[in-house]
Amino acid sequence: MTYETVIGLEIHAELSTKTKAFCACGYRFGAEVNTQCCPTCLGWPEASPVLNKSVVEYAIRLGLAADCTVNRVNTFFRKHYFYPDLPKGYQITQGERPICQIGRIEFFHRGEKRAVRINRIHIEEDTAKLLHDDAFKGTLLDFNRCGVPLLEIVTEPDLRGPDEVRDFLEAVRTLLVTLGISSGRMQEGVMRCDVNVSVRPLGQEKHNPRIEMKNVNTFSGAAQAAAYESKRQAEMLERGETYTQETRRWDEQKAETQPMRSKGDAADYRMFPDPDLPPIVLDDAWINEIKSALPELPVPKYERYINMGIAAAEAEMLTAQPERAAFLDACAAIGGAEPRGIAHWLFGAVSALHNRFGLPFEVSPITPQNLCDVLRMIEKGRINIDAGKRVLEEMFMASGKDSEADSEVDTGTNSEVNSEEPSRTDSKASSKKETPDQIIARLSLEQVSDEALLEAMVDEVLAANAQSITDYQNGKKNAFTYLVGQCMKASKGKANPQMVNMIIKNKIG
Ligand code: ADP
Ligand code: ZN
Ligand code: MG
Repeated sequence: MTYETVIGLEIHAELSTKTKAFCACGYRFGAEVNTQCCPTCLGWPEASPVLNKSVVEYAIRLGLAADCTVNRVNTFFRKHYFYPDLPKGYQITQGERPICQIGRIEFFHRGEKRAVRINRIHIEEDTAKLLHDDAFKGTLLDFNRCGVPLLEIVTEPDLRGPDEVRDFLEAVRTLLVTLGISSGRMQEGVMRCDVNVSVRPLGQEKHNPRIEMKNVNTFSGAAQAAAYESKRQAEMLERGETYTQETRRWDEQKAETQPMRSKGDAADYRMFPDPDLPPIVLDDAWINEIKSALPELPVPKYERYINMGIAAAEAEMLTAQPERAAFLDACAAIGGAEPRGIAHWLFGAVSALHNRFGLPFEVSPITPQNLCDVLRMIEKGRINIDAGKRVLEEMFMASGKDSEADSEVDTGTNSEVNSEEPSRTDSKASSKKETPDQIIARLSLEQVSDEALLEAMVDEVLAANAQSITDYQNGKKNAFTYLVGQCMKASKGKANPQMVNMIIKNKIG
């Protein structure tokens, strides 16, 4: 029997608003424990929650991007349950009528465009963090995360396999980042999901009962959990066993699921409208304003890059990395180089330099104009590819000293610092920065394309490498490459490699 896996996700995405959902507390990942809370997010009796307007705006942004209906009136509910990470004894969430409903999110899977239907997107608040302390042999609580705004995105059961789950989650992450509503930083746990899986014989229309795995916090975990459940359930069906709806725990370490609770003891959350929070009432003007300010969405962006002739893998990376995409768009606007080539350099030589110098892309010492200039000079034969790389390297070396020191201080911890850096670097750099032209002149990197000069050089190299010539003539292809290499070396890398190739071929081939 052939089986089909059916998967639906409930994705919790932490929003990057300046303050929490219902109070004025800020939230920064990694801040000292219990320093970012107040009576409201701790649920003390004097609490007076006030809805953060940005949370509503962010929810609408996502809803519009996901083709959802935005409900003009929607309400907050209290969902009651006991757990130590929930000091109020209830979580503020939304009920039957959430802010957004019925939409779809497109993504690419194995080069094909697919869509997952969205059932609902609602606003809710995060809970505290439990810290299990070995030395103390107990559990500690950090309430900083209490009341941080989340959007829960509930999909229809439209996914069919673990790889699709991973691609879809990546696409959602890219969408959130593109919309500017979440940092997308997985290492800070900003996206978590419940993975619902059922398995049915291929061709059967009715869904079998679902198994829900709660709070999976990595994309690979979600894919593995889906794969594990798909196999486990198919084996049960194969043995003729039936199963009922249940919640299981995904154990990342053991890579298996274990039972948590069955539908029978599913909680009754005693949901009722929150008397402290008035309904959200939205007017069309604001929604239209938000709609017209939406950025270009990932899927159209990806398609635009493909149409520009950029390779699929690079188009995908550009879609997921707004800074690089902006850089490429600026280069394309300047013109003079093929987008495909620009993308190639961006993810090749330029990325390699960023890695080597430990500089984040946002503080690149290279401007779009610089890269276009270098590429145009290569295209025109004024410098060769190696010299082009050398020019870029020089630009990194020149600006590297101060930027490098800065970046060591902020590495990965503080986004605010990063976002301020580009302007500082730009203004400082532009005043005294050497242009590619000046670098080429200073290092005399111009390519040698003078045929007589090159021929003399080749003759000298051939005279000194008689053995390699014999080897080549006896069929050793490597010997030819070696000879070209020797000529390039003799020219200090400046010879036109195509011409060197041709001259050697004419002489010994
Ligand atoms: P609950 O809050 O009880 O988990 P929701 O309606 O919020 O219920 O979420 C149900 C999730 O389970 C959705 O993502 C949906 O796509 C998924 N789902 C529903 N039925 C099935 C099924 N038979 N197989 C797999 N996933 C399912
Ligand atoms: Zn607070
Ligand atoms: Mg659920």
